[in-house]
Amino acid sequence: MSQFTKAVHAGDRKKPGPHVPSTTPIYTATSYFYDSVETLDKIFAHEMEGQSYARYENPTNAALEELAATLENGAGALACSSGMAALQAAITVALLDRPKSIVAASDMYGATLNLLTKIFDPMGVAIRFVNICDLAAIEKAIVDSKAGALVMETVSNPVLRVGAIDKISEIARNTNTAVIVDNTFSSPLLVRPIELGASFSVHSATKYLAGHGDVLGGLIIADEDHIEPLRAYSRIAGPLMGPFEAYLTMRGIKTFPLRMERQCQNATRVACWLATHPRVDKVFFTGDPRHPDAEVIARLFPKNLHGAIVSFEIKDAQKQDVFRFMDSLKMLVCGTSLGDVHSMALYPLISSHRDLPPKQRARMGIQDNLVRLSIGIEAIDDIIADIDQALNA
Ligand SMILES: *Cc1c(COP(=O)(O)O)cnc(C)c1O
Repeated sequence: MSQFTKAVHAGDRKKPGPHVPSTTPIYTATSYFYDSVETLDKIFAHEMEGQSYARYENPTNAALEELAATLENGAGALACSSGMAALQAAITVALLDRPKSIVAASDMYGATLNLLTKIFDPMGVAIRFVNICDLAAIEKAIVDSKAGALVMETVSNPVLRVGAIDKISEIARNTNTAVIVDNTFSSPLLVRPIELGASFSVHSATKYLAGHGDVLGGLIIADEDHIEPLRAYSRIAGPLMGPFEAYLTMRGIKTFPLRMERQCQNATRVACWLATHPRVDKVFFTGDPRHPDAEVIARLFPKNLHGAIVSFEIKDAQKQDVFRFMDSLKMLVCGTSLGDVHSMALYPLISSHRDLPPKQRARMGIQDNLVRLSIGIEAIDDIIADIDQALNA
């Protein structure tokens, strides 16, 4: 079944009965009672399906989780309070019965780097960073450090490198290393990491999945081996999304493939146009045939959908020139997010990668004149006109 069809139907209309709501309501109750205590006893014992307490089960979350697992062909999913809470939960569960050692892509979302270096490292987990596009280096790092988990992003942030999830998962399988992929940038319409051998696919649902800039949320999709440990962890630690957010995320996902398709088409147009602009130095885009990872992208991504993030360098621009460009934008929203219906511009130097030492930023290819655009669903001519006038301001 197509992703477009799954997005509209999966998870909803579950309960057979005389009245079945066509979409899943928001369940706010924190506890449930039954005709007999014996029934509740069976639910607590996992002998019977059912709700008992909101940290264990919530029907609104369960509907969203079924939807997410269906979209990525996972064994199940967990809805979390944020993308970062989801990453923290996935990494914790992966390491429960494995060596406390992580191999991670050096080029990742700023908060994810901080999660590894400021939370897991001080707790005694060894962290080793690698170039996620260098398979030989990854294999060596995994073997040398006896890695319990490998953490990577489908598309890195903000210079858009693409690691070979399929090949990396193959390497990791031999060493029982759990592969955790942050799939936020590509979404299940483009890439489904579990199908490629990953153990966990993690999303900031705040971005493309919810899509409207009004929900903070995260989703973990797990494979067969990890879904039960993940649920057991969640019942204890409770990193959960609230039912209101679960409802909004589910509402958003119904139109997500349509939005994403349009955003990808718009992004291709913006990237091609920027490449010819006299005020632009370098354009980063996963649909660029000269992209350094073009071969991996051709293997993992659909033919005409490459993502909707476009980064570019403004020619000879200093910090104040980038500020002027951003202040001159009239329609694009300058904000620290991505994936929304509205187009957005972000300056990594002052936001997502602000906390990193300048040397590390430079090593990641993040120059002081780099701007990241998240392309929305607006008419392409309006998006280009706004960027054009701001570049010429
Ligand atoms: C936004 C983002 C996160 C963090 O998600 P939150 O919902 O803000 O906690 C993690 N990874 C990537 C790639 C992101 O873009």
